[in-house]
Amino acid sequence: MTISRFAFPTPIHFGAGARKAVAAHLLEQGCERPLIVTDRGLSALPVLAEFQSHLGGLDVAVFDGVFGNPTCAQVMAGAAAFKAHGADCVIGFGGGAALDVSKVVGVMATHEGDVLEYVWDHPSVRPIVNELPYYVALPTTSGTGSEVGRSAVVSENDSHHKRTVFNAKILARAVFADPELTLALPAAVTAATGMDALTHNIESYLSPAYHPLCDGIALEGLRIGAHALFDAVTQPGNLKARADMMMSSMMGAIAFQKDLGSVHACAHALGAVCDMHHGLANALMIEPVLAWNREAVPAKFDELSHAAGVHGGGAAFVPWLRQLKARIGITGGLASRGVTEALLPRLVPLAATDFTGGTNPRPATPADYERLFRQAM
Ligand SMILES: [Zn+2]
Repeated sequence: MTISRFAFPTPIHFGAGARKAVAAHLLEQGCERPLIVTDRGLSALPVLAEFQSHLGGLDVAVFDGVFGNPTCAQVMAGAAAFKAHGADCVIGFGGGAALDVSKVVGVMATHEGDVLEYVWDHPSVRPIVNELPYYVALPTTSGTGSEVGRSAVVSENDSHHKRTVFNAKILARAVFADPELTLALPAAVTAATGMDALTHNIESYLSPAYHPLCDGIALEGLRIGAHALFDAVTQPGNLKARADMMMSSMMGAIAFQKDLGSVHACAHALGAVCDMHHGLANALMIEPVLAWNREAVPAKFDELSHAAGVHGGGAAFVPWLRQLKARIGITGGLASRGVTEALLPRLVPLAATDFTGGTNPRPATPADYERLFRQAM
């Protein structure tokens, strides 16, 4: 007997202006002293001050020590800021990096040790046993979908090796997804993060894991994103397109409970070795990997084309992606971004051992990864 378990646990408040409902929500929960966890770049922009202007009635402190690929030290500094403020809840405000840090600040404010001891594959991983402070998340990009995820990626301080805390207890208790927070995103960021969202929907649908509920979400998330991404990039003030991309991003991240595939395995390697933007890395790898995957699951590519509104069946899906990328300004291959063949001996083993490759629709060997990287050059 095989019993499957499905859960969609996060309450989501979605729509333009949703950020204005955060204060009342926190007060209802008995929270009065939030710590906002955000990134350094964002805290200098008007969008954070504007958000804070809607937090009347609360005694707010800001920790804006998140930058780059966030490190364990940044998490520990956030936990110290939480204690110094006597905070009683956490507001995560930002893109994937800031939200990942915000997920574990509450853990480290209430538990002993270093955040590294809580990563899922630590040999003696510590359990999260104490009650965590109430935590809400507000995404300001549409790509990672970190706001609905139960993992937080942080890098070791010195090696910058990426480690993952994976635990349902760090899920946001509520998400406030407000597309107005993304109106000022530059075109290049909208394009790269949008490609990440599309890739999540596509790869989770292609994953062989049994999850028909997520398959439905992934196809609809692809449909919405495929129709909105060009407008979101080229018409920055188009609130409908911004809202659609935020929805597509969340749907992709909900769907990847099914896990992802080899596009992400390659993107994780490119992030670790070349410090490449995650969404851009997916965008540069997606054509060769998907063209190869289609040979294994052609019927699924017919469905992808149908969902994205692409004419010509599954064979037309990868060419459509290539065109979309060109229209949103993502041109050239890995070589044009400074990736050389000399890096292959470092990229290939990382990609071949990345956990996301385990749910690629066909097994990928190191030789396969080497060929895919070369094709993406
Ligand atoms: Zn991704």
